Amino acid sequence: MIQLPLSKLSNVGTTIFSQMTQLANENEAVNLSQGFPDFMPDSELLDHVTHFIQKGFNQYAPLGGMMPLKEEIARKIENSHQAVYHPDTEITVTAGGTQAIFTAIATFVKKDDEVIIFEPAYDCYEPTVELFGGIVKRFEMKAPDYEIDWNAVKNLVSDTTKMIILNNPNNPSGKILKENDLQELISIVKDTHILILSDEVYENIVFDGKQHLSICKYPELKERSLLVASFGKLFHVTGWKTGYCAAPKNLTDEFRKVHQFNVFCVNTPIQLALAEYMKNDEHYKQLNSFFQEKRDFMRNGLSGTSFGLLDCEGTYFQALTYDKISDKNDFDFASELTINHKVASVPFSSFYKNKRNDHVIRLCFAKKQETLEKAIENLSKL
Ligand code: GLN
Repeated sequence: MIQLPLSKLSNVGTTIFSQMTQLANENEAVNLSQGFPDFMPDSELLDHVTHFIQKGFNQYAPLGGMMPLKEEIARKIENSHQAVYHPDTEITVTAGGTQAIFTAIATFVKKDDEVIIFEPAYDCYEPTVELFGGIVKRFEMKAPDYEIDWNAVKNLVSDTTKMIILNNPNNPSGKILKENDLQELISIVKDTHILILSDEVYENIVFDGKQHLSICKYPELKERSLLVASFGKLFHVTGWKTGYCAAPKNLTDEFRKVHQFNVFCVNTPIQLALAEYMKNDEHYKQLNSFFQEKRDFMRNGLSGTSFGLLDCEGTYFQALTYDKISDKNDFDFASELTINHKVASVPFSSFYKNKRNDHVIRLCFAKKQETLEKAIENLSKL
């Protein structure tokens, strides 16, 4: 057997999302672990894809993306956040949110640069920073409120801080940033060279009339930010792996230097189909109420059980505490829940470097009514 060089990611295994999905499948459990819808996307969107494939749009797209899609993205951002990005020079279509995040980190993080992240953190941030020699500094948000202590964040900042990674709305906690959080962030980064990578893939899934405050709403933040979004989350097509990165021209120019060697470009007919579909703003404006119904159905269904329901302000994830049911750690609890009670979840400890265990699990409610009903029935028996 060939002797391999030292692993660049020696502490990294298969993602928790793949692990839990596999365990769910092996045990024929209701899979509320990995975040993806189990229902069909709108047939109108599917028809657009067929149309563009049949029309012959099957070759490479320009490396920044198809112009009609970039124009629709710019229009959406301006309508939603009153922020202007030039479609041709400031928006890049990517192969999903994760590729945009990877490319943004690869573009800017050098050896020994420090990057601040907030835990619980989506799983790709830290390994990607490490891959490029960066050093992760983390602020731990804790159950049940997952609030940010900005003074503690300030103490993490040093002369070598290159980037702060935000995830708003936050996966897995379901919390959204408030005006005060963004003002605190402004006071930390102003007069510095710190970049912000803002993962806002759940921006259109915010509940109870609350407002998503995008980084691009604030000129002091926008000028230093790479804003990442995902069509997978927006239009229930996670398997299409299409998203984008919006950033000022000087940042986009650098981002594209890496992007061109990372994927070069993204699926052409799908970009054109998305552009056509985005002409109708209702297609994303109704997302909040669509998912709020599912969230409320799940919360009502679980309210009589022994699980505790943490706040869910956004995303399609509901965090549950299980202190009254078990004192097992969350990984063992989630595994047993899948095997014995046929509901797969994601343990929160997998979003913390130190495997912090607050006895919290995450359930995805982007599922059909009957899937949610079955899960509630199973969970009610505990
Ligand atoms: N974003 C999804 C989640 O949080 C899954 C992504 C993935 O499987 N890599 O579950």
